[in-house]
Amino acid sequence: MKVKTRFAPSPTGYLHVGGARTALYSWLYARHAQGTFVLRIEDTDLERSTPEAIEAIMDGMNWLQLSWDEGPFFQTKRFDRYNQVIDNMLEKGTAYRCYCSKERLETMREAQMARGEKTRYDGHCRCDAVQKAHHADEPSVVRFANPQEGSVIFKDIIRGPIEIANKELDDLIIRRTDGSPTYNFCVVVDDWDMEITHVIRGEDHINNTPRQINILKALDAPVPQYGHVSMILGDDGQKLSKRHGAVSVMQYRDDGYLPEALLNYLVRLGWSHGDQEIFSVEEMMNYFSLEGVSKSASAFNTEKLLWLNHHYINHAGADYVASHLMWHMNQQGYDLDKGPDLITIVKLFAERCKTLKEMAESCRYCYEDFEQFDEEAAKKHLRPVARQPLERVRDKLAAIDALSWSTENIHHAIQSSADELEIGMGKVGMPLRVAVTGIGQSPSVDATVFAIGQARSLKRIEMALSYIQERESAAN
Ligand code: GLU
Repeated sequence: MKVKTRFAPSPTGYLHVGGARTALYSWLYARHAQGTFVLRIEDTDLERSTPEAIEAIMDGMNWLQLSWDEGPFFQTKRFDRYNQVIDNMLEKGTAYRCYCSKERLETMREAQMARGEKTRYDGHCRCDAVQKAHHADEPSVVRFANPQEGSVIFKDIIRGPIEIANKELDDLIIRRTDGSPTYNFCVVVDDWDMEITHVIRGEDHINNTPRQINILKALDAPVPQYGHVSMILGDDGQKLSKRHGAVSVMQYRDDGYLPEALLNYLVRLGWSHGDQEIFSVEEMMNYFSLEGVSKSASAFNTEKLLWLNHHYINHAGADYVASHLMWHMNQQGYDLDKGPDLITIVKLFAERCKTLKEMAESCRYCYEDFEQFDEEAAKKHLRPVARQPLERVRDKLAAIDALSWSTENIHHAIQSSADELEIGMGKVGMPLRVAVTGIGQSPSVDATVFAIGQARSLKRIEMALSYIQERESAAN
């Protein structure tokens, strides 16, 4: 049988990392088995579902490159189908109309509570006598006639066998008085119609599963296999939420992560394959299995995600990383014509940056001039003793023919200045660095000067020399 999985988010907010991990597992399971992956938008909660949330989910899925083969299907477009199935069930007797008034239900519940029982529908309308006493046009809900004996047993692929006695389950309302089908029912019809073979979803749905299985059986529909993925916790052991920091997938893009890093992080958060940590998407697809998914909750660890991001920034290929960096550069208002190409920036900064946002912030001096030197760096490195080394290296840099402007030739200019003045290279390199970048830290000075460019570097060295001169006059 061809594997078919689905991701079925309710569009009530952004795509959060928990949802993304569920989507990833579902997607990987389908890809591993060369099956089909369906995207279904569960938008029946009309009050909480918004078009912005649908957009946000799609953006998140697209950014992570979790491509779907079918859909997106929208539940709100399928009401006719759900109602048709409910009508069939009414005919067949696997569902019945319930005419109980609010007041009757309230009294029933109070009595159950007074007896210390779990509150559940007492099946009052589940008999011919009551049905005959009413007319189908009267206001009513439709309830599923849940089996009254036995139990539902299913083998959760992640958590093992689960058994629930039917006595524990209510006769679930499947159609409200206003004619709208209810959530659990829509899920069942969708999984059936879409021929889903494996339902991989969050453990918060585990209580729905026995109810859904009973309905599927009543419909003579095949029962898919279920795997319930555990929660993600924050570093304090509480359920991951906004107060732990970023939880929306797109926030991770905004914060400068590569999708590969987030995917790699999420796949390992609750799944393992030996002690391997780094997985290309291809490897994830090859190795993924639900048996490898842990049933205990996993704690989110931003440090590890940063470590992975740093890895991918350095290994994903400079042109690929540059294509993502571009978004951040635009976001930060850069005029990209005013500096080196982004591949140069990636090669220069990858080693020292953990995020692309940080990279975009760090390379500002390659595109824009600054008005002032960082005070501390200037105090330390643009001292009178730096004047001669700076003048020497300026002359050598100026003498490089524009076509020969290269890291090697810049390196040579610094080296020979130091040699001629019989000082260490740092005595030339550090003032030069502060002069051209305005700050005390940068990637290797020769590559940095190269990226900044000849004319701009020379202009900034002059600016540093004026600064030194002012300092000298102030001292005298
Ligand atoms: N719509 C549900 C949610 O967003 C998922 C339901 C399911 O996967 O069966 O939590």
